[in-house]
Amino acid sequence: AYNFSAGPATLPESVLQQAQAEMLEWHGAGASIVELSHRGPEFLQVAQEAEADLRRLMSIPDDYAVLFLQGGATGQQALIPLNIATPGQKADYVLTGHWGKTAIKQAKPYVDVNIAASSEAGGYRDIPARETWQLSDDAAYVHVTANETIHGVEFRDIPDVGDVPLVADFSSSIVSEPLDVSRFGVIYAGAQKNLGPVGVSVVIIRRDLLERAGQPRADIFTYASHVAKESMLNTPPTWNWYLAGLVFKWMLAQGGVDAFAELNRRKSGLLYDVIDNSGGFYRNEVDPAARSRMNVPFFLKDESLDKPFLAEAREAGLISLKGHRALGGMRASIYNAMPEAGVEALASFMRDFQQRKG
Ligand code: PLP
Repeated sequence: AYNFSAGPATLPESVLQQAQAEMLEWHGAGASIVELSHRGPEFLQVAQEAEADLRRLMSIPDDYAVLFLQGGATGQQALIPLNIATPGQKADYVLTGHWGKTAIKQAKPYVDVNIAASSEAGGYRDIPARETWQLSDDAAYVHVTANETIHGVEFRDIPDVGDVPLVADFSSSIVSEPLDVSRFGVIYAGAQKNLGPVGVSVVIIRRDLLERAGQPRADIFTYASHVAKESMLNTPPTWNWYLAGLVFKWMLAQGGVDAFAELNRRKSGLLYDVIDNSGGFYRNEVDPAARSRMNVPFFLKDESLDKPFLAEAREAGLISLKGHRALGGMRASIYNAMPEAGVEALASFMRDFQQRKG
């Protein structure tokens, strides 16, 4: 079946097959990679290769540290203000969907959140124009959500915010296209969409920000301490780190982010074409300039068709298309690991379903 789930992720089949083999025994080590010490030579090599491969994949400059941490993206949403803002300092948030709201909720105990721009009143269907953003003079950082997984709203270009560090949640669009990392202070992502299974988060942080005093906090919540210990301040999520490393190798072998950018453009284009050419049978309500390439939410013209659509899709081997409960309707999540053939199968199912029920 083709799995259109918004997460936890779809993984490439070849990665799952390799993991299955290595799960039983790691290259003659007498134990599985999940049973070997994270400080032993086998896992250290896995960890170092994963970081090197991610650096290559994303062209991460040397003045950025890369962390593989627990706590999910939500954990980072709290750690960021703790680490790079002083108590009560202002932080600007551009709110474009559900996950931006979560980021604000996590930050509020620590910073004076200024919602610099918001598309909430319009139901998160677009991205407020940069001219309308009301940035503070003295913000510790500006936070954006690069891709809103539920609302299907994605920044095509994240605007400039001057000298203030730009902090971006890339959970559902990291490594989906080339990115100029040097424009950001912090990039963070839960792994479970484009990077691997849930359980590890990637944090890419400009090293000068590690020197900020931040707020009183435990060592375990301190990015600089994690950097000093190479993400092994405590026992890291070895299995997830290992699997993310396999995904990075798979991506590099497929041609890296340039190849995936082209593929993602074609895949999402195909679905939006079916929707836009359906004469209103299907509809996506997001401003075309802000439509996500990763998550395509859509509605059928008549809600009573939702159940048959889902049941017939399932029979056709197209699963997990039900929309998020906050929005209803459908959502096709088409991350890097979704093959083009899966999207073609969905597009042709949608056309066929419309012909029969429209
Ligand atoms: N940010 C975005 C854009 C997401 O899509 C998600 C989860 O789907 C999160 C944050 C929360 O991630 P986690 O569950 O890893 O905390």
